[in-house]
Amino acid sequence: MSDGAPSLAALLAESCRRHAERPALSWPEAAASPLASLTYGALWTAVEDMAGRLLALGLAAGDRLAVQAGKSPTLTLLYLACIRSGIVFLPFNTAYRPAELAYMCGDARPSLLLCDAAGADDLAGVARAAGSRLLPLETTTAGGFADALSATTVQAAPLPMPAADAAAVMLYTSGTTGRPKGAVLTQANLATNTLALRDVWAWRDDDRLLHALPLYHTHGLFPALNLSLAGGGECLMLATFDAATVLRHLSQATVFMGVPTYYARLLREDALTAAACRHMRLFVSGSAPLPDALFHAFAGRTGQTIVERYGMTEAVMITSNTLDDRRPGCAGRPLPGVELRITDESGILPADHDGGIEIRGPNVFPGYWQAPDKTAEAFRDDGWFITGDRGRLDEAGRLWISGRSSDLIISGGLNVSPREVETVLDRLPGVAESAVIGVPHEEWGEAVVALVCAAAGGPPPDESALLAGLGDLAAFKRPKRVVVVDSLPRNAMGKVEKARLRKEWQNLFTARV
Ligand code: AMP
Repeated sequence: MSDGAPSLAALLAESCRRHAERPALSWPEAAASPLASLTYGALWTAVEDMAGRLLALGLAAGDRLAVQAGKSPTLTLLYLACIRSGIVFLPFNTAYRPAELAYMCGDARPSLLLCDAAGADDLAGVARAAGSRLLPLETTTAGGFADALSATTVQAAPLPMPAADAAAVMLYTSGTTGRPKGAVLTQANLATNTLALRDVWAWRDDDRLLHALPLYHTHGLFPALNLSLAGGGECLMLATFDAATVLRHLSQATVFMGVPTYYARLLREDALTAAACRHMRLFVSGSAPLPDALFHAFAGRTGQTIVERYGMTEAVMITSNTLDDRRPGCAGRPLPGVELRITDESGILPADHDGGIEIRGPNVFPGYWQAPDKTAEAFRDDGWFITGDRGRLDEAGRLWISGRSSDLIISGGLNVSPREVETVLDRLPGVAESAVIGVPHEEWGEAVVALVCAAAGGPPPDESALLAGLGDLAAFKRPKRVVVVDSLPRNAMGKVEKARLRKEWQNLFTARV
């Protein structure tokens, strides 16, 4: 699939050469950092240096470098240095707890695990069990990543460029069947997707992207950071999303990208006005459905129509509305080079029929990390990837997503596997069984809700005690409510009827708004 495609490393190297004098990255809230403002030329010099030092540290192309750390100038450079060197970048959600990381590190076996200084004690056991060297990414004391790098001697010979089909990034993603799986993305997956987005969103080298997304997820890394750097524009980096901070810096930007939850929060700020957005040429939303009401409320307040796009960890970006055709509720057209079909048991469906969404193209990952069975299940024999999402194509070839084939929950743009939460709940005292579902929520899109049946003979478990028992799960996976019920509805096969539960509990939050 990568025939003739460039590697991401080559694409970024070329952009840095071409735009050497222009501003590439800046951190308006972190002006004290020596990396707070870099031209493309300075950025690439720093990337080459760090890439050489990572290799001198003993890592080799193809090794995994895992990191769980807050978004910072060093983390950004580290990502790019991995891309340049061929070391596979494996970022973890900062909300993951040590028990979750133990599983993922045991699976991925990273050579090096980097963390925030405050997390080093918690992760010592995880690193030891996975055979990984552990270093704090940023620390004021000796013995951190910076010290380890500066003790290395960089080879004078230029580093070889990674091959287009080499693994570049690995991201763990939740399925419905329990444990997260490591999706491996190649250099070509990322490069071709960046080029497709550059065309569709008509990226310009005077664009300035206000980047408030995390760097452990597809969204913040690929359509945001890769595109800005490959497109020659300036990326204004914020460490976290905070609506007031975003609005404070919006006047310097031309583009903003976010999950629907960000737009809901921006709308709560009085400072979000048409005047505050007058420099903006593009607002992009994705990672979860953008409700029509949010699209219209944002347009009403700002005069800006959000461009919705659809993507997933395994396939980067898949479809997008175009600049001249932005429709509420619509995921847009397949990106250049991406094929998309709608199927059911009978085969490929014609326009305007709802079915499973399948895709093929240079954006689709080669498979899950060391999981040939899971990879085989995800692909048809003819090579099409089964996204697990449902929708229809209209006569004009636009995609309208109707839901997911699976019970996967997406809360605040992050995937939550119901099975993973149920497994932890079912182990708690007083719980006989549980069902975890996603329920509509104004701010989160979907809120995680657990329905729990009490164990026979005991007192019904208490909601706060159950919530307190879920500390091993990242906060975004913990239910917003735990409700004790008499029984769970089951179908003839004995399977819990999640669709029925979702319907029954759909007004749990919205009724109160
Ligand atoms: P992730 O792998 O975390 O990026 O999540 C991917 C999933 O998010 C997709 O499989 C969809 O279910 C969902 N998703 C992403 N973008 C959209 C969108 N624009 N509309 C509806 N669902 C979306």
